[in-house]
Amino acid sequence: MRLNTSTVLVGGMKIGGKNPIVVQSMTNTDTADAKSTAKQIIELADAGSEIVRMTVNTNLAAPKVPEIRKILDAKGYEKIPLIGDFHFNGHTLLEDFPEMAKTLDKYRINPGNVGYGDKHDYNFSTIIRIAIENDKPVRIGVNWGSLDQDLLTEMMNKNSKLIKPKSDKEVIINAMVESALRSATLAEKIGLSQNKIILSVKMSIVQDMIKAYELLAEKMLKNKHLYALHLGLTEAGVGMQGIVSSSAALGILLQQGIGDTIRISLTPTPTQPRTREVEACKTLLQSMGLRHFKPQVTSCPGCGRTDSHFFQELAEEVNSHITKILPIWQKKYSKNADKIAELKIAVMGCVVNGPGESKHADIAISLPGRMEKPVAPVYIKGKFVKSLQGKKIPQQFIQLLEDFVEENFN
Ligand code: SF4
Repeated sequence: MRLNTSTVLVGGMKIGGKNPIVVQSMTNTDTADAKSTAKQIIELADAGSEIVRMTVNTNLAAPKVPEIRKILDAKGYEKIPLIGDFHFNGHTLLEDFPEMAKTLDKYRINPGNVGYGDKHDYNFSTIIRIAIENDKPVRIGVNWGSLDQDLLTEMMNKNSKLIKPKSDKEVIINAMVESALRSATLAEKIGLSQNKIILSVKMSIVQDMIKAYELLAEKMLKNKHLYALHLGLTEAGVGMQGIVSSSAALGILLQQGIGDTIRISLTPTPTQPRTREVEACKTLLQSMGLRHFKPQVTSCPGCGRTDSHFFQELAEEVNSHITKILPIWQKKYSKNADKIAELKIAVMGCVVNGPGESKHADIAISLPGRMEKPVAPVYIKGKFVKSLQGKKIPQQFIQLLEDFVEENFN
């Protein structure tokens, strides 16, 4: 069951509680370049990112935040909430650029690098005070690459005096959670309410990250103080590695009801767009049945029983047709847009699993296997409706799909 965390309002987006798990992403443009940053935010929003974070790191970047907001508003993206990511100098920038502080919908701060020694609490308090004055939520994002060294030293020293000391790894995980909870308590003491705080404890090793979030959830439950949680595997890696590692880590936590918003951080490559991380988040949530963004196409992997080439082409054609047509369907049948996103389509390779899988889909096709009769039965809502034949099977099936959507969602 999902943790009943506080609901935090970020711009117009609700995060936590019983609200849908929110997809977020982060730009990698120079924030001082307002046009490029606004352009990338639009790309991410179009791909389905419901919140976008950008770094606010210099005196050149900070004053551009209101300009970025204006560009987005002028282009019809006034609803996309913007998050400022602050490290080291966030307290100074937020004080020196009040318009930027007002424009952002949330501040992300890292308790490991807001300042050291006496300066830590002062700088942290400055950021929290500005958040309160502007009525903004804050994400306290602990990252093991920049874990509060004073706190870690304190906990390592304590651990070394135990009769049975814990491993260094265990102490680090405990320190991650402690850093998040101590910072949240301090923020609340300063006056920021619980429903303005989101926590994260990101690590880069799947098992460690899972343990950190599980421990955080356990402690929050014990304290009966449930902050909304942002999930992410930090430094997840390039391409497939990043997607699979993140999905494993996030999937296990989401399955336990831990997590209110997610990001899949992928190392960019010259050939892959930034929007890939948004696609990865949506695919993960949809495959777990937690959100529905677009019709689900179930297709078998194909094997020696079927004509692989034709089968692959059909599966690919159905998928790309849906990607292309979905915005049109959503506009044309706007009242039923949610239902369209839940549509189940099956494209199966042969008679082994084809008819069975087809019965669970709204509309399905099962191709003939190598030794089977050269006809492709089509099923609608589990019932056989007709058989298709010849080279135009993909076009005919897509037409049947179009007719189905028209009949059921108009
Ligand atoms: S449904 Fe048929 S073609 Fe597809 S994997 Fe199973 S046996 Fe192979």
